[in-house]
Amino acid sequence: LRMVSAAPLDNEPVSDEELRPHALEGFIGQPRLKAQLQLFLDAARKREVPPDHILLAGPPGLGKTTLAMIVANELGVPIRITSGPAIQHAGDLASILSSLDAGEVLFIDEIHRLPRAAEELLYIAMEDFRVDVMVGKGPGASSIPLTLPRFTVIGATTREGMLPSPLRARFGFTAHLDYYPHEELERLIERSATVLGVALGEGAAEQLSLRSRGTPRIANRLLRRVRDWAIVHDLDVVGQSDVKEALALYQIDSEGLDRLDVAVLNAIVRNFNGGPVGLNNLAAMVGEESETVETVCEPYLVREGFLVRTPKGRVATAKAWSHLGLEPNDDVSK
Ligand code: ATP
Repeated sequence: LRMVSAAPLDNEPVSDEELRPHALEGFIGQPRLKAQLQLFLDAARKREVPPDHILLAGPPGLGKTTLAMIVANELGVPIRITSGPAIQHAGDLASILSSLDAGEVLFIDEIHRLPRAAEELLYIAMEDFRVDVMVGKGPGASSIPLTLPRFTVIGATTREGMLPSPLRARFGFTAHLDYYPHEELERLIERSATVLGVALGEGAAEQLSLRSRGTPRIANRLLRRVRDWAIVHDLDVVGQSDVKEALALYQIDSEGLDRLDVAVLNAIVRNFNGGPVGLNNLAAMVGEESETVETVCEPYLVREGFLVRTPKGRVATAKAWSHLGLEPNDDVSK
């Protein structure tokens, strides 16, 4: 269980609900995307038709599900929620589609993971508002074309490149979500703190934002752990130093790196004199699977400029050395 994981932890989804904004206005940050979406929704309302289908693309934990719910709310229509992996057969999707009400929003999370046959059914439904329903089994089976009312698909994906182009082409609007800058995360944390009834003192939200990896889900999770700290220590107001102490307990450092991230940097710097080092050697040194190091640690370390991938292997940057309190030319071989 990783505190700084951008994916929800097992016990999280339900408790997260209270922190979701319900209107576009309460959605913090991403100003360009919000302006685009506002225009898109206003136009649909004026034309009095359901809007075109929307694709939300971007890393996990940045608010795709939240945005989909906001869109439905803003349009005043119900939302049906499913996901690519939850749909095992085309028939599962056909039965969802054939039960949609006019104007309803169908949210498909991880849409890049839909089975092939379901994907094909979806193209047709999105384009022609029609679905072929299979009746009966075996040689006697036949398909009955069913006309659907107009509805709006909102697809969410962390892997836009994996969507086949015919499917991608059926979205009228693609919104790209990006990591949040610190100032936006700070506002988000202040909003969440109000909802959770935590009084944050001067600089506390900033300290939290610096450790949240640009990701709202992580920010909210860290805030909850800080709230635990405040409750246990009977604090009326949470100060900067409380945030630092509480998160140090979870081994989250000033840059949002956790124990494993720091172990990876330490291994490159101390065991391989800064690199280059191959992924497998590096993983063996920190006692993790190569895949974990590559998919869980590296993206953030690379994004934040602690590590670069070169054809010869991973290299620690000057920023990594100084984060570990070392000079890049220090002799660390002993
Ligand atoms: P995944 O791709 O893993 O499903 P997601 O991008 O759909 O993640 P959400 O579940 O929508 O992420 O958001 C995670 C949490 O962060 C929720 O509690 C949500 O309320 C909060 N959140 C996300 N974005 C914002 C925002 N811009 N303003 C306020 N709260 C936000």
